[in-house]
Amino acid sequence: MQTTLAEFLRDTPDGEEAKSIVGKCVHCGFCTATCPTYQLLGDELDGPRGRIYLMKQVLEGQPVTESTRLHLDRCLTCRNCESTCPSGVKYGRLVDIGRKVVDDRLEAQGIQRRA
Ligand code: SF4
Ligand code: SF4
Repeated sequence: MQTTLAEFLRDTPDGEEAKSIVGKCVHCGFCTATCPTYQLLGDELDGPRGRIYLMKQVLEGQPVTESTRLHLDRCLTCRNCESTCPSGVKYGRLVDIGRKVVDDRLEAQGIQRRA
């Protein structure tokens, strides 16, 4: 999946690493079957493929909302999805970067995490 990094991430270590990880995803969806939150909630955005798509949008500078954060927060970071991915997508590392970027973007908009 080709990603064009937003200006604020271009040439940064996290941005380039996340772009490289997203680039390995071929949207096959094998990972969704082994994701506990997808099994429970049945929403594509609460599974690895959907979260990867959300993070790609964030990396490209598209608007970030509380909903974006919620879908990433619901991830248990169990990394089951990595074990079933035929492309070797390092989802765990990607979601670490994605969560940080989302928090930073929301904070820049004055949206703090609720206690
Ligand atoms: S780390 Fe676990 S909960 Fe998160 S997307 Fe992968 S399988 Fe689902
Ligand atoms: S199994 Fe891997 S390549 Fe396929 S959609 Fe999931 S993360 Fe992407």
